Order: sequence, then structure tokens, then C-alpha cells
Amino acid sequence: MRLWPWLRRRLPSLRFRRDDVLGPYRASYVCHAPPLVIDIEGDRPGDVDADARAARSEWLAGQGYLQLCFDGAQVLDDPEAVVDAIAAELAWPDNPPCAPQPDDERWMRQALAVAERAAQAGEVPVGAVLVTADGEVLAEGWNLPISLHDASAHAEMLALRRGGERLANYRLAGTTLYVTLEPCLMCAGAIIHARVSRLVYAARDDKAGAVDSVYDVIARPRLNHRVQWCGGVLEAEAAAMLRAFFQQRRDSR
Ligand code: ZN
Repeated sequence: MRLWPWLRRRLPSLRFRRDDVLGPYRASYVCHAPPLVIDIEGDRPGDVDADARAARSEWLAGQGYLQLCFDGAQVLDDPEAVVDAIAAELAWPDNPPCAPQPDDERWMRQALAVAERAAQAGEVPVGAVLVTADGEVLAEGWNLPISLHDASAHAEMLALRRGGERLANYRLAGTTLYVTLEPCLMCAGAIIHARVSRLVYAARDDKAGAVDSVYDVIARPRLNHRVQWCGGVLEAEAAAMLRAFFQQRRDSR
């Protein structure tokens, strides 16, 4: 059971049980969410029987369990390498950023102009522009949670809502969403639900960003819709606009 402290340290979000009975078998380690069995050979009587091992693997696969087998000697020797292998098996698929497209800066400039409307309304200046695959503006949105008494009235949400109304379809396949600040958890979720094809953001949000900074909802998707994305387009301009807004607000207090 040398693996136990390593599992606890490296995979703290997984609840493993040691030496647990699972159906007709006793497994070295069992986790139910995600369904995973780690078997250390030599741990259990009956390991020597190849037929019994095959039956066990078949049964586990039928129950939806991922079974990872390791040699007992290897675990004794180098538990760190074993837990590395387990972590690699469990890694969610990455969705790395794509290269910026030639028109990205032009659309981001428009999103920055839209963000000014939020600032004029006394809202944090964030702007979003939703563009179709043919390069037409489908909708714009700017931050309005204070004005609308609506915590969900972020620039992205309003652009998605208006875009859906125009298409009479909540699915916005083929569209690109430009937004001046990295989307939050709510907006990243809505972007996935709306099946937006591509997301381009300007400034990173180190406090609440959910694309690839604080959370990585878009960059490491656990859902099956993958959004192509890139960040940092006109980042300096967008960050300067946000800084100026907060500075002005502090000065006026
Ligand atoms: Zn948001």
C-alpha cells in the first residue's frame, strides 16, 4: 500500500478506497467518480490465474471502470512513476489555443468600442461582438449588470442572447465571439452551451477568468463541445481601458 500517500497528494480530488470489494472482486484501489480501479499485481490471491484476471478485467470494463494495472514490485520501487502514469491516464483532453486570424484585431477594436458604452453607463467596460462565419456582425453586447439589476448581464451573455434571437436558435454554430476581457465561469459555460465555434479575448482576468487562467473551462474541456480560442488580441488596449476605468472610479470617490 505504498501508493496511498502518493494518490492522496497527487490526485486529492479523487476519493479512493483501499482494498475495496467491487462486485465479485477485491481491488487494490477503487474510485467511483470517475470510475477507476487501480490493481497492483501481487496484492490479491488469484492474481496468478490468467483466466481469473481476464474475467475480472472484462467484468470491470462492463461496469464502465477504467482498470489500470501495475506490478507490485514497480510500486515498491518507484511509487512516484506509478502515480505519474495514473495522472497521465486521467488527464482531461487539452484544448490548446489557436493562432490569431487576420481579422481578429479589427473585430477586437469593434469590441473595445462597444465596451466604451458600458463605461458610459458606469459599468465595468467589457464589450463583446459576435461575428458569423461570413464575417457579419450578428450581435453586440456590453456589460450591464448594475443597470439591468441582473448578475448575468455580462457583455458575452447579452451578445449570445441577442445573437440567438436573431437566428431564432440558441445554437450559434460557426460564430466567433470577440470579447475584451477573458470570460468568467458563467460566460464560458454559456459559450459552450451556445456551441460558439471560436472565442477570442483580449485581456486576461487573473481574478475570475475561466478560459485558461483561474479556471480552464475552455482550455481543458470536460464537455464534448470544444471551442477554438485564443487570448491576448489587443490585450494592452483592453487592459488599459479597464485600468483607466477603475482609476477614474477611485478618483471620483
Ligand atoms: Zn461573464
